[in-house]
Amino acid sequence: MSTIQAIEVKCYRLPLPVPMEASAAGVMAGFDMVTVQLRDDQGAGGCGYTVLHEGQGAAVAAIADGPFREILQGADPRRIEWLWIQMYKRTHYAGRGGPVAFAHAAVDVALWDMRGNTLGEPLWRLLGGFDPKVRCYAGNIDLNFPLDQLLEGGSKSVEAGFHSVKMRLGKPTLAEDISRVEAMRNHLPAHIDMMADANEAWRVDQAARAMKQLQRFDLVWLEEPIAPDNFEGYRHLRSLGLVPLAAGENLHTVAEFTSLINAGGVDFPEPDLTTCGGITPFMKIAHLAEANGLPVISHGAHDLHVHLLAACPNTAYLEWHAFGLDQFMAQPLTVADGFATAPDRPGHGIEFDWVGMGKFLV
Ligand SMILES: [Mg+2]
Repeated sequence: MSTIQAIEVKCYRLPLPVPMEASAAGVMAGFDMVTVQLRDDQGAGGCGYTVLHEGQGAAVAAIADGPFREILQGADPRRIEWLWIQMYKRTHYAGRGGPVAFAHAAVDVALWDMRGNTLGEPLWRLLGGFDPKVRCYAGNIDLNFPLDQLLEGGSKSVEAGFHSVKMRLGKPTLAEDISRVEAMRNHLPAHIDMMADANEAWRVDQAARAMKQLQRFDLVWLEEPIAPDNFEGYRHLRSLGLVPLAAGENLHTVAEFTSLINAGGVDFPEPDLTTCGGITPFMKIAHLAEANGLPVISHGAHDLHVHLLAACPNTAYLEWHAFGLDQFMAQPLTVADGFATAPDRPGHGIEFDWVGMGKFLV
């Protein structure tokens, strides 16, 4: 038996190395990070975190530190599914997604990390143990970059060891988007795969027109061409058979993924554990995809997701996110020859530079 004795919730506002733009979010200069640290009466610890756009971290931290703390204090940390449901029930009226899902994620990761630390096992083996080597791509956020900077970013990703590079779409005209994709395709070596992410820039008719023009570039996928919850729109666009579709970073529940997959609206389901309630629901979504004959890819938080994707047989790609959290980690993940390798350290194996992050505490 073990019981949770200490719960520490913190909120940080971390600056980005360079301001970045995506269509739906606009220009971002920094991001919020909420951390949850747990300790049990046996001395075992676990650390979880979630990241989100600037200005909303305090709300997420308040949920973790309020109703979730009441549930966790004195509870058995090994009953992760049970605790997840208790947190879900306590907050479902104003929850089922949104800030609650982010708070849920930070706590759930801390519980899984604690389990891994207690057992001396890395998460990727605890969760299934398929293959520690995971194919990854550079998830550049570059809509605001002028063309020369966009192409330079592509080159840097290839030099860093990536074999796949994603760029952003959603310029004021489709012609500009297409000319940027064409420039990038001509710039990158032929063996480098490309993805594109429109971040909800278009209506369904605009997306259909864009996909006709994008077809000739043989993209691995087009991501979020339209609003994330327009499942009928995704079904229609996918039925055109022009470009494979990826979506999911803005879905916050297993139920939403079930709806999107049942609608036949996605080729690459893309859950993000930090937005969908943590490792527990992420793994359900990954298995749901597998059961439907689909691959799974991840969005953001690559130091955590590498474990989850290394656990799954249907993994396609890990997104290497551009938030630059690596600078606050003792042993950040590395990429070589297009792959990242999940570490063998217990839990998620991430050790944060708490002192360095201290000056960004909200
Ligand atoms: Mg995206």
